[in-house]
Amino acid sequence: MTCDEFKEMAPAYALIALDEQERTACAQHLATGSAHRGCHEAVASAELLAARLGAALIPQRPSPEVWRAIAARLTAERGTAALSDDPARRHGLYHLCGWLLAAALVGVYLYNAPLDLRALHAVMRLGGQLASSGH
Ligand SMILES: [Zn+2]
Repeated sequence: MTCDEFKEMAPAYALIALDEQERTACAQHLATGSAHRGCHEAVASAELLAARLGAALIPQRPSPEVWRAIAARLTAERGTAALSDDPARRHGLYHLCGWLLAAALVGVYLYNAPLDLRALHAVMRLGGQLASSGH
């Protein structure tokens, strides 16, 4: 794994959104003693954002109905096997993790309000577009 590849995955790594194999690859990359190009900084800032996000955005646990609706939508739009089989879709998801952090922080710091469900749905639509655009 190169430093550029790692930095692309850093937000997903910080959000613990990677599978075991990817997470291990990232951890091994971080553990190598060779000179990195911003890898530690990337994961540190992503972890900081994730921590702030967790502290700021979840005053109460969403209802089970919300999670079921999210799961049903993901299954319907992407198919159950697509995530692990299609590198292009995974690539889109890494970007989505970064966008999720960025969008949430914009909501927190500019508008001083937690994301509501409409914003979550908007981000999910964006994710669906990213995942299906195949870039
Ligand atoms: Zn590196």
